[in-house]
Amino acid sequence: MKRNRRVKILATLGPASDTIEMITKLVHAGADVFRINMSHASHDLMDQTIERIRAVEKDIGRPLGVLIDLQGPKIRVGTFAEGAITLKTDDIITLDSNPDAGNQQRVYLPHPQVFEAVKPGHRLLLDDGRIHIVATKVTPDAIECRVVHGGKLSNKKGVSVPDSLLSMSAMTKKDHADLAHALTREIDWVALSFVQRPEDIIEVRKITKGQVGVLAKIEKPQAIERLDSIVKLCDAFMIARGDLGVEMPLEEVPGLQKRMIRLARRYGKPVVVATQMLESMVSSPIPTRAEVSDVSIAVFEGADAIMLSAESASGDFPIEAVSTMDRVATAVEKDQNYNAIIRSQSAEPEATAADAISAATRQTAETLDLAAIVTYTSSGSTGLRAARERPSKPIIALSPKIQTVRRLSLVWGLHCVQTRDANDLDDMVDKACAIAYSEGFARPGDRIAITAGVPLRTSGSTNMLRIAFVNQDGSASS
Ligand code: PGA
Ligand code: MN
Repeated sequence: MKRNRRVKILATLGPASDTIEMITKLVHAGADVFRINMSHASHDLMDQTIERIRAVEKDIGRPLGVLIDLQGPKIRVGTFAEGAITLKTDDIITLDSNPDAGNQQRVYLPHPQVFEAVKPGHRLLLDDGRIHIVATKVTPDAIECRVVHGGKLSNKKGVSVPDSLLSMSAMTKKDHADLAHALTREIDWVALSFVQRPEDIIEVRKITKGQVGVLAKIEKPQAIERLDSIVKLCDAFMIARGDLGVEMPLEEVPGLQKRMIRLARRYGKPVVVATQMLESMVSSPIPTRAEVSDVSIAVFEGADAIMLSAESASGDFPIEAVSTMDRVATAVEKDQNYNAIIRSQSAEPEATAADAISAATRQTAETLDLAAIVTYTSSGSTGLRAARERPSKPIIALSPKIQTVRRLSLVWGLHCVQTRDANDLDDMVDKACAIAYSEGFARPGDRIAITAGVPLRTSGSTNMLRIAFVNQDGSASS
């Protein structure tokens, strides 16, 4: 299955979409990577969902990425007996330490630190800031609040306390348990929520030991202050606009988004733009014009992936949401200004063989109008550097490792294929041509660029660029 776009689509799975049938439809509609949100999933549900994704992957024959999103120290209310309540201005609602299901008067808040930190007069923003309540009375195990702006409050919605100073580490007990479990499964990325310091990434890396990619969710002002060092340490990051827009002034988020995408491109780290991209599609088959424009901005800037949350996890139109993203992204990438905008933000190659080869390959492919760039990448690092160049020609990333091709499915422009290692140089060229042909990127008579490391099978040694002709039968000649 060949995509007609370079930006990837990351779709969150949930009750509206986590069946084999729906996952299959979502992949056909354009989803490249799936997110399982541990704020809403048990270990059993995680296992079941991963199994289903892998079954679809096998059936379709294309690598799919799986991202496990750890809840992090996010404060959330408990559940309601009726699933949700509706709060009106001047209603009184108490958040307390009683784990029983909530009602119109009270709801469980399973975070004792909050009772210590919140003082009367402090604001509490619920559900990404949609609901605004203010603390009126605080005891060691309850906060009584008055509703300033009401709305519908459903199970496990987030609570932000912008006026209160909380002492919380990056990974909770639940995160440790979820991560330990996830690492026993076939997953590719783990997302760390509410990252505040570079040390948070180091802490999770000690556990993951390179087994999966570590994605930092940037959703706190503390992380913005240390953005450079966090981005250097992580394998990818997410512009988590939902919480970022609650923790920081909403009007600063667009500028931060631009800054972060440019930083990602400079360092060659995949970046995901997330939250409310097509929010109205939770209940409508058609997006708003503003949402289409929002998606297009991320695509024009060259983000690696754009994400759907509730739109695909619990909304009424998961497939329409994915296909809308697909259509918008495809149109933007065909726009007459797209290449010039992408080019204007390109980062200089660093002084490494991989970067020099990647830059030369992009230039060669564009100058000679080659059909594709084929990159042999074992760990995935050369694939990342090839994508960092943002070439206008397709990139096919080949790796013998299933983990690498799955992980790279999050990355801009990479069409990932698992293939056995080449035996020698001729075999390498043959394989590259055969795959470019069979995957639908090159026709007989086309030429492709191939990059690899020689001697073969030594990781991190990319040092070769070769141009080859694709023959009538998909074989190679130079
Ligand atoms: P969440 O993260 O959906 O897990 O809250 C994304 C965001 O905050 O934007
Ligand atoms: Mn968040």
